[in-house]
Amino acid sequence: SRLLEGRTAVVTGGASGIGLAVAEEFVANGADVVITDLGRAELDAAVAAIGPKCSGIAADVSKLADMEAAYAEVIARHGRLDAVVANAGIGAHAPLHRITEEEFDRTFAVNVKGVLFTVQPALPLLRPGGSIVVIGSTASIRPPAGMSLYGASKAAVRNCVRGWIQDIKGSGVRINVLSPGAVDTESLRSALAMAQGADAVPAAVRTMGEGNPTGRIADPREMGTAAVFLCSDAAGFITGVELFVDGGMAQV
Ligand code: NAD
Repeated sequence: SRLLEGRTAVVTGGASGIGLAVAEEFVANGADVVITDLGRAELDAAVAAIGPKCSGIAADVSKLADMEAAYAEVIARHGRLDAVVANAGIGAHAPLHRITEEEFDRTFAVNVKGVLFTVQPALPLLRPGGSIVVIGSTASIRPPAGMSLYGASKAAVRNCVRGWIQDIKGSGVRINVLSPGAVDTESLRSALAMAQGADAVPAAVRTMGEGNPTGRIADPREMGTAAVFLCSDAAGFITGVELFVDGGMAQV
């Protein structure tokens, strides 16, 4: 059955990777989806791939005015807002001795301030029964080497969410963190290609999978189906949790 029939959802950073897969699963479950991202061309390509229940709006999550304008446009298009997936995020490899102030500011501007500016202007618009999903990472508890800044940003939003469930008490809106481990996206594959060369990518993906209790890394669609669940009435009493959708990686 279609869990999100008649609902309207916003997915930030929806032009690629996990966000695109989330948008596809939402549409498959009956939702109208508006994806936001930085580039018009990338948005247009994603909307064409997802189909007529999806449209795009160019907006930078680190700019509050962009997000306010995006939500106003969502209401103009659909007249309602039921779900928000704060997915846009960045993660650069920067070991301690090479962390720069610029890298610090950029990581927190997108991954923390960007989540705040995705959530804050949505709150007055979300209907009771509405749901917010913030895409975290297993790096929030286990940052891999060289990913301390990224892990810190994901831990920061996880703790924001713990506080926010109390701040939004009585709104009927739930908010949770969905934390992937390694997900087989183009961005993961291109990062591996840059580090180890293009020919080494399939073996590197296999090796990452072997380190996981399930023996593989995730398909992006598996983030989509988990986000559908968290935004559906089936998850009606789940709020404030960090749900690891990581094949058990964070538990071993
Ligand atoms: P991705 O780079 O494919 O997608 C992220 C999208 O966000 C891109 O389309 C990008 O243009 C957009 N974006 C970046 N900065 C933005 C901004 N300021 N405003 C609006 N959009 C912006 O990456 P992905 O792997 O799909 O990652 C999506 C989320 O999942 C991120 O929050 C990431 O930290 C998280 N995550 C990914 C993995 C993984 O293995 N791929 C694992 C754990 C967590």
